[in-house]
Amino acid sequence: MIRTRIAPSPTGYFHIGTARTALFNYLFAKKNNGVFIVRIEDTDIERSKKEFEDDILEGLKWLGIQWDEGPGTGGECAPYRQSERMSSYTPFLRQLADKDLVYPCYCSKEELEQEREMQVLSKQPPRYSGTCADLSASQRAAMKSSGKSSTLRFRIPRNRVLSVVDHIRGELTFDTNTLDDFIIAKDFDAPLYNFAVVIDDYQMKISHIIRGEEHISNIPKQILLDEAFGFTVPEFAHLPLILNPDRTKLSKRQNKVSLLEYRTEGYLPQALVNFMALLGWNPGNDRELFTLEELEKEFSLERVNKSGAIFDLQKLEWFNAMYIRGMSLPELTSWCIPYLIEEGYIVREGESYSVSTDGRRLSQTELESIVRLEQERIHRLREIPHRLSYVFTQELEYDAALLIWKKTPVEEIKQGLLIAYSSLQKISADEYSPENLEDQLKKEIQSAGMKNGVVLWPLRVALTGLAASPSPFEVASVLGKKRSVERIKDAEKKLQFETGEK
Ligand code: GLU
Repeated sequence: MIRTRIAPSPTGYFHIGTARTALFNYLFAKKNNGVFIVRIEDTDIERSKKEFEDDILEGLKWLGIQWDEGPGTGGECAPYRQSERMSSYTPFLRQLADKDLVYPCYCSKEELEQEREMQVLSKQPPRYSGTCADLSASQRAAMKSSGKSSTLRFRIPRNRVLSVVDHIRGELTFDTNTLDDFIIAKDFDAPLYNFAVVIDDYQMKISHIIRGEEHISNIPKQILLDEAFGFTVPEFAHLPLILNPDRTKLSKRQNKVSLLEYRTEGYLPQALVNFMALLGWNPGNDRELFTLEELEKEFSLERVNKSGAIFDLQKLEWFNAMYIRGMSLPELTSWCIPYLIEEGYIVREGESYSVSTDGRRLSQTELESIVRLEQERIHRLREIPHRLSYVFTQELEYDAALLIWKKTPVEEIKQGLLIAYSSLQKISADEYSPENLEDQLKKEIQSAGMKNGVVLWPLRVALTGLAASPSPFEVASVLGKKRSVERIKDAEKKLQFETGEK
């Protein structure tokens, strides 16, 4: 039975790297009819916060990465927070103590620091020298009675070479002589990461540990603990680092690293899933678009690269645009609504929405036709309110000079607007569709013997106040007859007033 897990420490917001690790664990489990588990590693009481745990779980839900066992869901190995599993660690620590595999270390922070400094000065690798490894029972008792506090160290066997075959990195070997007797617990009731993780992975029957490359150095410690208890060592797969485009480690300075910031920016979870899947994994051909369900079928650890994966924001934007284009209009509309509400353009009234400025009710069809204006144009949902401001604001603000197409004389532009005005007037409000508007306008432009640009450019600016926008036919039909006609009149006045008789 394949069982994978993600074991985030809730000491910060859900990091994009952790999200990628979660995705790969999830995909590997799904591909192999296995189980994906979320376990919260909150043994570091000072740094762990509920707020961060919530952020991680919300991020996973947003991505559509459902866990089979974990917080909120429960499961046969509950509880799934280390802070709630404390009682299960102590007996294992006692077992190690009984076998003399752990010993109390009374060295203070200052003493350890001093030792390290001396080693650095004499150009030796900094490590614990084993001061407390062989204290006699009476020496320990004396330390204890003098009130010295202690930690628990694991006794590393010397002169051994440990070897594992990592699913991504291949064979890895570790010489135990390079390892310190590391601290596995602050006390019998206060375990630390490398110890707690081994017990949890054993008790949760984890078959594959898939995690970031930064954990490679923990492999030998965890294997030795597995051996000490007689546990089967799980399989390992260490994922490549995620890098900034300049090949430095992904950092806040160059990219947003918290997953939900991407939601705020208007990225779709589908796009992030697709993008993150290709941060390290490749399908073996040049296909790029994959839904989560498709990835569940295609994913394999064999196709995960060893070398660092570059985080290319432009690529993410491209994926996002592809998913926006490919989405059904009702679905895209429901994704855009929160951004329009946030901007203050629309308000929710029960099941429907209305325009904030004039209280006009918007039907679902109207909302969809507004969103359709930008479906082919935006890369991020957050662009929606800004780009559609002309639909929701009462009065447009723009420079009259924008109405001038190329270097056409003002008089001709005025004439162009007149033609636009009369064409729009001739279409009844019921037949006010982009197709009818286009037919009528083009007919009149032709019979007036004018260039398209002289009419369509100022018309588009009159309707939107923008230099770039969708076609004037689509915009006019969304604005409706009354508002588009008014806007043409406003443009004429602007032209008169601002460029007028100068
Ligand atoms: N709590 C560790 C982390 O957040 C988990 C490491 C592991 O997967 O073993 O990095």
